[in-house]
Parts: sequence; structure tokens; C-alpha cells
Amino acid sequence: MKTRILEVSEEHIDENIIREAGRIIKEGGLVAFPTETVYGLGGNAFDPQSAKKIYAAKGRPSDNPLIVHIAESGDLYKVAAEVPEKAKKLSEELWPGPLTIILKKLPVVPKETTGGLDTVAVRLPSNRIARALIRASGTFIAAPSANRSGRPSTTRASHVAEDLDGQVEMILDGGGSAIGLESTIVDFTAEPPVILRPGYYNKKRIEEIIGPVEADAGLESDAAPKAPGMKYRHYAPKAEMTIVEGEGAAERIRELVREKEEQGKKAAVLCSEEHKDLYRQGFVFPLGGADNEEETARKLFDVLRKTDELGADVIYSEAFNTPNLGTAIMNRLQKAAGHRIINTEEVQE
Ligand code: AMP
Ligand code: MG
Repeated sequence: MKTRILEVSEEHIDENIIREAGRIIKEGGLVAFPTETVYGLGGNAFDPQSAKKIYAAKGRPSDNPLIVHIAESGDLYKVAAEVPEKAKKLSEELWPGPLTIILKKLPVVPKETTGGLDTVAVRLPSNRIARALIRASGTFIAAPSANRSGRPSTTRASHVAEDLDGQVEMILDGGGSAIGLESTIVDFTAEPPVILRPGYYNKKRIEEIIGPVEADAGLESDAAPKAPGMKYRHYAPKAEMTIVEGEGAAERIRELVREKEEQGKKAAVLCSEEHKDLYRQGFVFPLGGADNEEETARKLFDVLRKTDELGADVIYSEAFNTPNLGTAIMNRLQKAAGHRIINTEEVQE
């Protein structure tokens, strides 16, 4: 399959391109498209064959459910069997935007789309290209992130092309993702509701709207998998990555980089804007300043992919425990690092 990459601007959406992209989805094909979070790999949410194509293109196990993207909030009732009051309130407040809600599904949503579950994940994105595409498709769009399974998510059309060239009919190039981290996922089939994946909207923001919620300790949490051998790769660059935190972290990173370079290895460093001059060796990637955590989020996946391009063997990252997005950023970094963390303040055994 030849993949076509077409530029679309959110300010002046080319209706001809969107109409054609919508037709591809309606007819059972795949289109990668921009959203405010990351790029999505979209297919018809009501077509089991489209779901199978998505799993095949991503190389993703088919028990990992997809998110159903809608363009009008009322469409929620066309896929969800029950919408609890709190889900209604939260989605009314935060949609369109980077929030995904999990609800009991209606039978029209095929199990192929929901990874075999009786629940469905629903999101109304704010990106205007995404919404125009959903409307043009005449259906709803099932989409996970548009990356090969295990790789960092995609925040530019060029990232999507790297991972999915020849696997999708079309890539809509809408420029860099505004947020750069996947949506916050809240499960409303439990009471109190549970945050399954931290994202742009943090626990505090959600609790301001609907009261107490829990943060899941398993699926998408910061916690390392309990059993050895269960460590799964997610958002992972090719290099072995380690997070170094605590007092004197920069100094420790400098030592580690020096050691690796002496062994003839290429090292990359992920650090805050303020710390970039502390590092003289290795490929240094400043990831935004302490007062600009949005920039850190926006750059994160792009930088992880750049370390691959440069052929880095090892990556050392500072911790980014910023006030609002820190939980979401560290969740992605810890997974990218396969939970390899050095705390300089812990006594070595
Ligand atoms: P992605 O956008 O590629 O990260 O993939 C969709 C995410 O949504 C995955 O982390 C899924 O586990 C999650 N998800 C989708 N549907 C459900 C569901 N019904 N229940 C729990 N998690 C879900
Ligand atoms: Mg993903």
C-alpha cells in the first residue's frame, strides 16, 4: 500500500482532503490524523475488520482496547449504555479536549474495537481536523496512538510515517501536537471513578469537578510491575534509558555519561532548560524550563525519537516532577525507561 501524506491546516481545513479521508474510513481503510494529544491511527469504530487492521498496523495485541472518537457530545449516547452523572459532568466540563471516559458499551460497538471488553473508551477531541474527519467519515473513529506498539507515541506526521508507512492509506499532517501526551483516561464503571492513565488533566483538576477519584495502581501507574519478567515495553526508545533523581543528579549523570563514552558508547541526556549547561558530554536535549512544563510535555516523544535517530546506546534523564503535568510526564518517562531509576539519595545495597 502506498501511503499518501497530505498537509492540512487547522485554520483553513481543506474540505476536499477531509472528504476523501472520511471516505477511506467509511470504506474500511485506515487514516492517521492529528489530535491535540498525539496522532491517532483511525478506522471505522463500528467495523470489526477495521479494528483488526489497526491492530495489525500497530503490531499491537488485540486485547488492548481502542478509543472511540466522536465529534458531538450527544454522540456519547450512541456508544455508551450508561452515562453516570459524574461522567456527564466531567465530559461537559472538559470536552472537547484531552479526556477519555470509560463506560459500559452498547451492543453496536463491536468487541474487536473494545479489545473484548464490555466497556468502551470515548473521547471528543478539540483538534478541528480530527473533528472534521470524524464528521466526514459518517461514523465514529476508533483510534489508538499512531505508533508501532512499544515505540514512543507520535506527535508529528513524520513520526507516523517512520512507524506506519505502507500500513495506512493516508496520513493527515496537521503539524506538531499541541499537548504531546495522551489523554487522561477515567473509568466510570467503578465508584469512585478511577484514573487509569494520567494526562494533561491531573487528579486535582478532575476532583475539582466531580469530587474524589482514585488513581489506578496497576495498568497505567508509576508502579513497577510486581512480578519479574512482566516488565513490558512502552514508549520505549531503542537505547537503554535510566532516570536519575535526587540531590546531585546532574553530577551522577555526568559521571555515567563519561563512563559510557569511555566504553565507546553514545549517550544522550534529557534535562531541564535550566540545567543544559551542566552537561558537556553526550547528546544533550533540554526539555523545557521549570516554569514551562507544557513545553516538556510537547517535546518528550519527539526527543525520545531523536535519540534513536542519533543512534544513542544509553539515555540518562533527569526527573521532571513539575506541578501540574509532572505525574503524566513521569508516567511516560518511567515506562520509556522500563522503570530503571537511580535515586542518588538511596543507599546502594
Ligand atoms: P492508546 O491511545 O494507544 O494509548 O490506546 C488506548 C488506551 O486506552 C490504552 O491504554 C487502553 O488500555 C485504554 N482503553 C481503551 N479502552 C479501554 C477500556 N474499555 N477499558 C480500559 N482501558 C481502555
Ligand atoms: Mg499508545
